[in-house]
Amino acid sequence: MSARRHKVHLKRGREASVLRRHPWIFSGAIERVEPPLNEPAPVDIFAADGRAVGSGHFLGGSLAVKVLTVQPQEFTEGLWHERLSTALDLRHKLGLPGPDTNCFRLCNGEGDLLPGLIVDVYGDTLVIEYHSPAMRSAAGELRKALNTLWGGKEAVIIERFPDPKAEGEPEVFGERSLIARRIKENGLTFAVDLLGGQKTGFFLDQRENRALLERYCRNRRVLNAFSYSGGFSLYALRGGARTVASVDSSRAAIALAEENVALNGFAERHVAHTADYFTFMREGSAGFDLIVLDPPAFAKHRGALSGAIKGYKGINSNALRNLNPGGLLFTFSCSQVVSKEDFRQMVLSAALEAGRDVRVLHELRQAPCHPVSIYHPEGEYLKGLVLAVN
Ligand code: SAH
Repeated sequence: MSARRHKVHLKRGREASVLRRHPWIFSGAIERVEPPLNEPAPVDIFAADGRAVGSGHFLGGSLAVKVLTVQPQEFTEGLWHERLSTALDLRHKLGLPGPDTNCFRLCNGEGDLLPGLIVDVYGDTLVIEYHSPAMRSAAGELRKALNTLWGGKEAVIIERFPDPKAEGEPEVFGERSLIARRIKENGLTFAVDLLGGQKTGFFLDQRENRALLERYCRNRRVLNAFSYSGGFSLYALRGGARTVASVDSSRAAIALAEENVALNGFAERHVAHTADYFTFMREGSAGFDLIVLDPPAFAKHRGALSGAIKGYKGINSNALRNLNPGGLLFTFSCSQVVSKEDFRQMVLSAALEAGRDVRVLHELRQAPCHPVSIYHPEGEYLKGLVLAVN
């Protein structure tokens, strides 16, 4: 416990959630901060009876503190190193990296006891994304810890921000020419844009779901809606799909998708459309045997939930209505505020509206390199269903 650190005193009884290891403290639970704070900083946390219950990052705002340790503790390079090395050990147990896959999530925020920190690995390029300014203030130490973990290898570290408009361009530490341009996932090659692409460059959370899709594609006509760089499309093509259509509104995403299809030698069976899906689906979503719907998060916060559900229902009922008999729908939502139950209820309404016979074959989630702390169910953001449609 540092003498200089600010102290967060909780209201009576509000230590309960910290003791249950939930990593978030909302402003309503806080009695006072001593001395007062108006900027992100490390803090020690105290119950109303004066007992120290942990340390965390003060963020201000409604989500006021993210708890890092259940004991009062200094945040040092040693702590970052220990947590990142535990995170890497877990990935090694998952077989990552492996002979066929060199990209994965190394640190999944709360799921790896490092709230606010995302680290994705692309070969020897590490992409860091800070989701809290307090975590960002430890950037220098975090980079050192990562470099130590990478041992003698020449790692390049890129720092990216979830909202580049507000927080600025990516920063590169290391030799720019060594930034990974191609990665391997389950033996497929993907071109990535780690500086300008979406997320940290690739949707690593869908790896296992893409592999599942591959098993169901033989001789099918596949529509990959919201395709980004063609992740699901490549697996469908390798799985023997008769044709695959990729649709995305981003020109850059479709350019990458076409590059990726060509890189893996699948160009004849693929067509790409740069189009807004809501426009495309009015005319173009009929005649398919398998549809993938993996839209962006329609709801970024609670207030947007009901509008988001309507949006999901619209694309799902359209897909269910248009699928050929015996068809399959792989449908996803990556909105954290849409619960598994909300999602299933939405699919039920869409199925009723489409008037089809719909059965659930698989329930899907984010890949295990995106672990979720049992104490922090909010970390469960990606949900999906595989549906058989008649
Ligand atoms: N399935 C992809 C990830 C999809 S992310 C993968 O496995 O890699 C969501 C994608 O939806 C993004 O590429 C984004 O460009 C695209 N998108 C967002 N709004 C869209 C719209 N209205 N119409 C079509 N595509 C859209």
